[in-house]
Amino acid sequence: MRRAPRIAVEVEAAVDGFARLLGDAWWDHHFDGGRWTEGPLYVPAGRYLIFSDIPNDRNLRWDENSGLVSEFSGSANHSNGRTLDRSGRVVTCEQGTRSVVRVEHDGSRTIIADRVGGSRFNSPNDVVVRSDGSIWFTDPSYGIDSDYEGHRSEPEIDGCHVYRVAEDSGAVEAVADDFAKPNGLAFSVDERRLYIVDSHHDHIRRFDVNDDATLSGGDVIAESSAGHFDGIRVDTAGRIWAAAADGVHCLDPDGALLGKIQLPEPASNVAFGGARRNELFVTATRSLYSTRLKVNGI
Ligand code: MG
Repeated sequence: MRRAPRIAVEVEAAVDGFARLLGDAWWDHHFDGGRWTEGPLYVPAGRYLIFSDIPNDRNLRWDENSGLVSEFSGSANHSNGRTLDRSGRVVTCEQGTRSVVRVEHDGSRTIIADRVGGSRFNSPNDVVVRSDGSIWFTDPSYGIDSDYEGHRSEPEIDGCHVYRVAEDSGAVEAVADDFAKPNGLAFSVDERRLYIVDSHHDHIRRFDVNDDATLSGGDVIAESSAGHFDGIRVDTAGRIWAAAADGVHCLDPDGALLGKIQLPEPASNVAFGGARRNELFVTATRSLYSTRLKVNGI
């Protein structure tokens, strides 16, 4: 077993008691060979974590048992964010193919969505699956703005929107069209609310999810005090854990800052993992870090 180098956790508490949410007093530094890492996803059945190295166009896998990181897939297509669906299949945003794809249990690949109304998406960034099987994703333009993390291309859609794909019909609908750069997104514990980052404005908005799966509301509930918010996840108590330029910010369900766990590199995304979902994994620029918490992800 490779033992990861450790760096001390620097905590900046905004409320009393924040530090009590942490278990370890260090980050395990699992990997530092990336260029812009993203898309962490822990796969419980295999006890590994997949993540993206977008500019280097590769997917990597950290193995929990060996502690080793290796290349996971030869055709990453500039993958970005990913999630598991209800049957444990990996659903991935690919900036290179401008699509959201699913890897089936037999290893074959299914395109879930690559266009709306005949127009190709910009470059899907991050994705969540609701318990009704619908797939929700954001579509900023980072993957077509330049060749750095995709393929420079002209947008075919007027704007950067948030979409929902119905499980049964596969129909694609825009659910929010007033974002500049929609990015990370996460449902509340009861799935009646959806948090969505706008990384152009460095803030998080909160929507109500209506019975017909449309969104209403959308108030800004949190402004980042350190650069862009990017990926977010929610724990079982409803707290929001958000990647930002100085590390991970922890917010209450109304967006109030509870505290920060700092990192030496700008963070891009977070994921709960481990058998009990109490290990917080963070992709941060060149690296993959984790620390054990006293809270559990949903
Ligand atoms: Mg993102």
